[in-house]
Amino acid sequence: MRVSTTCPYCGVGCGVIATHDGQMLTGVEGDRDHPANFGRLCVKGSALAETLGHHGRLTRPRVDGVEVDWDTALSTVAERLRATQAAHGRESVAGYLSGQLLTEDYYVANKLFKGFLGTPHLDTNSRLCMASAVASYKRAFGADAVPCNYEDLEEAELVVLVGSNLAWNHPVLYQRLRSAKQRNPLLRVVVIDPRVTDTCEIADLYLGIRPGSDARLFNGLLAFMAERGRLDRVYLERHTQGIDDALTAAREDDCSIEAIAADCDVAPERLETFFYWFASQLHVVTLYSQGINQSSSGTDKCNAITNCHLAGGKLGLPGAGPFSITGQPNAMGGREVGGLANQLAAHMDYHTPGAIDRVTRFWTTDTLTPSLPDGPGHKAVELFDAIGRGEIRALWIMATNPGVSLPDVNRVRRILAACPLVIVSECMANADILQYADIVLPASSWSEKDGTVTNSERRISRQRGLLAPPGEARHDWWIISQVANRLGFAEAFAYTHPGEIFDEHARLTGFENESGNRLFDISGLVGLDRAAYDALKSIQWPVNALAPKGTARLFTDGRFATPDGRARLIAVRPRGPQQSLSAARPLRLNTGRVRDQWHTMTRTARSPRLMNHRSEPFIEVHPQDADDLHLQDQQLARLEGAGGDYLGRVRVSNAMRRGEVFVPMHWNDSFSGRARMGGLLAAHVDPLSGQPESKHGAVSLAPL
Ligand code: SF4
Repeated sequence: MRVSTTCPYCGVGCGVIATHDGQMLTGVEGDRDHPANFGRLCVKGSALAETLGHHGRLTRPRVDGVEVDWDTALSTVAERLRATQAAHGRESVAGYLSGQLLTEDYYVANKLFKGFLGTPHLDTNSRLCMASAVASYKRAFGADAVPCNYEDLEEAELVVLVGSNLAWNHPVLYQRLRSAKQRNPLLRVVVIDPRVTDTCEIADLYLGIRPGSDARLFNGLLAFMAERGRLDRVYLERHTQGIDDALTAAREDDCSIEAIAADCDVAPERLETFFYWFASQLHVVTLYSQGINQSSSGTDKCNAITNCHLAGGKLGLPGAGPFSITGQPNAMGGREVGGLANQLAAHMDYHTPGAIDRVTRFWTTDTLTPSLPDGPGHKAVELFDAIGRGEIRALWIMATNPGVSLPDVNRVRRILAACPLVIVSECMANADILQYADIVLPASSWSEKDGTVTNSERRISRQRGLLAPPGEARHDWWIISQVANRLGFAEAFAYTHPGEIFDEHARLTGFENESGNRLFDISGLVGLDRAAYDALKSIQWPVNALAPKGTARLFTDGRFATPDGRARLIAVRPRGPQQSLSAARPLRLNTGRVRDQWHTMTRTARSPRLMNHRSEPFIEVHPQDADDLHLQDQQLARLEGAGGDYLGRVRVSNAMRRGEVFVPMHWNDSFSGRARMGGLLAAHVDPLSGQPESKHGAVSLAPL
C-alpha cells in the first residue's frame, strides 16, 4: 500500500510516498506532487525504511524502573504532578518539548501545561534552533512570520546563504537551488560562513568571515547601500520606520570597505563585490540558519539582515526576502501552537492585547475554567537553572534529549539527576535521557504517528500513520490527554483523533480575529471531517476567508503586522561572542550537523549506509593548527571546554579557518564514551530570544 506522508527530519518538510505491507515499511520515494520537494529526497529521507523496525523500541511504560500497565503509569504521572503542585505551587511543574512532535501533540501539551496546570514553564528544544529568528521577525514585522517560500530561491537573481550549510542540513533545498542555477546562469549564489562547506560548490562568491562578525557585515552593507544611493526611499517612506536609527547605529563603526573587511577578516574586494551585488539587485533572498541564530546576539544578527532587505524594498516580491530555515521538521508547528515559554497559544503572546482572556474563554468548558499564567515562563537554559535551584521539581520531557543538546550539558545532567520527578516520553530504548527518568512513557514514532507538521515555508503537511505502534507504545497526544483526564480535566481533553485537535487549534487561530490582525490564521481549515483531514493536501498559512487556498508569500502589499502596519528597522550594535578565548582555551569552537545523521542518532545510526558517511565523532582542524599542536590526521584528540571535554578523531582540513575547530552535535553516551558537544559550551544565551550561543565555544585541543 502506498501512502503520502512527510519526512520526519529537517525543516524542508519533503513529501514522501511510503510503501508498506501492513507490518513494515517496504520502501520510500519522494512525492512528486509535494511542492517542497517535487519527488526529490536526500540520503536521510531515502534511507527511512532502513531506520525503522520494532527492535530497540520502548514498548512498556515504566515507573521507578518497574514495568507497569498504562493505567498505573498515567495515574502515577497525574498523582505526582498534582502532589508536586500541591506542595510547591503551580510553577513547580514544567515541560520540555521538541520540534519532532506533531502540531497536534504540541497543542495538547501546551493546553495542559499553560491552560490547566497553570504553569508558564513549557519550552521546547526549538529554543536551540530558531528562537532568534522568531524574536527578530516579531521585532521587524510584528509577527513571527516567514515572508518567503522555496520558489523564491528559484526566482531570485541573488541568493545569499549565511550561516547555513544547505548542502548538508537542508539537502533538497540545496538541490533545488543548484538546479535553478543550472537553468538560470544569471542566478548568483553567495556563501557567507567561517567554514568552507559543500554548499560552496555552487557559490559564485565565498566570504569566510570571522565567527560572530555577521552583524558588522550587514550593518556595513546597510551603510554601503545608503552611501551608494541604493536605499528604496519610497518603500522606506511608505512601509517602514527606523531607517535613520538603524543607519546611525551602523555608522557608529567605521563603514569603509577596508575597516569592515578587517573586522570580518575577509578580502576587501570580495566584500565590496558582495555589497555591490546585493545593493544592485532587487530580487535577493538571504537564507540563514543556525550560524546566525545560535549566537548570544542572534536576534540582532537576524534583524541586521532584515534591515538590508527592508532598506532596499527587497521583500514581499517573488525572489526576495530574508528567509530563516528551521532545523527540525516541526519547529514551525511548535511556534504556531505556542510551544515556546514566552508564547501563550496560536501565535499570541502574554502581552498580546486581550490574549489571556481570549484563550481562557476559548478553553473554558461547561465545567472547567482554565487557569492561565499571567506572564511568560523560563526559556530552555533558564528552565534547567530553575530546576537546579529547586524551584521546578517536576519535568516532563517529550521526544528530545536535553542531556546532549543544551550548553554546559554536564551540569544539565547533574540537574536532571537531582530533579525529584523526571517523566520522559520517548520512542527508543537506547535514548540516554532515559537514565534520568522516574517514569518512562513509550511513544509512537514516525510511520505510526498521525497529524500535521509545518515546514520552513509555512507549509502545513500531513504526517500520516501507516503502521501500528509496537507493543504498548502510544501517541503523544493520547498520553497527554489521558494524564489530563486523570488530573480532572477530562472535559477539555476528550479527544479521540488528532483531527479533532487540529480542528480546535484551527478554530483558536481564528477566534476573535475578524480583523485579521493576527497573521497566523488557519480558520479556513476549520470543520474538516475525518476524511477531509486524512486527505488534507499541503497548504501554506494564512488560510482563511481572505486566502482560502493559502498564502505563498507574505507582505506583498507592504503592510505588516505591527499596530501601524509598518515594518521596523532595528538599530543594531554588533556584539562579539560571550564565550571569550583565553590562553587556556585559545580555539574558537563551531558546532553543527553532519549530512547523514539526525539529532542524537537514535534512528539514523540504524542504517549502515548512513553511518558510512561519518562513523565516529571527529574534530575538524586547520592544517597549521594541527602542526602547531603536533596532531596528525585521524589521530585521537581531546577538546576541553567550559564544562567538559570531548574525545574525537582529528580531521585535518583546509575548510577550517586558523584558530577554529568544528565538532558534530550528534554523538552521545549511547554511541560514544565522551563526545558530548554540549559539555564544551558555556551557557550564554541571546538576551532577547534565550537561544544559546552554540556556535561560539572556547576550547583547547591536545593529543590524547
Ligand atoms: Fe527529509 Fe530534509 Fe532530506 Fe527532505 S531534505 S528528505 S525533509 S531530511
